Amino acid sequence: MSQRTLSAEKLQEIRELAAQWGRIVARRAFGDAGPGLDIDFSTMEQIASAATAGLTEGTLSTLLDQQAQSLPEAPACPDCQRPCPVSYEDRTLTAKGGQLPLREPICHCPDCRRDFFPPPDLLASGRTQLQPRRGRDDR
Ligand SMILES: [Zn+2]
Repeated sequence: MSQRTLSAEKLQEIRELAAQWGRIVARRAFGDAGPGLDIDFSTMEQIASAATAGLTEGTLSTLLDQQAQSLPEAPACPDCQRPCPVSYEDRTLTAKGGQLPLREPICHCPDCRRDFFPPPDLLASGRTQLQPRRGRDDR
């Protein structure tokens, strides 16, 4: 099943599922008795923020891994159409709500001496969220 966007109903269903996980997070943080009166709203927000970051990381990591696994073994170079093997580079992806480690697929065409990211139409939609490429000593 492939679809470019999810329906409003599906997104609402996912939000309700995450809200149920929020109840689990709250119980995990303070037990069944809940927070004491000495716990302020800012602390509660910190917990919700950590949960959101973890949810973002887990969701995007899973989806990107699944997408990478469905790449062809040797995507065609956009210039000369030569099949080029996929290799991977580890980097950090900044997304709405957090950062996550990304194992980014990359191809190199020895004939054109260029790198390309396969397949351009599949991964292009998320690329506007990517951080600009930085030197290795920046990690
Ligand atoms: Zn080429």
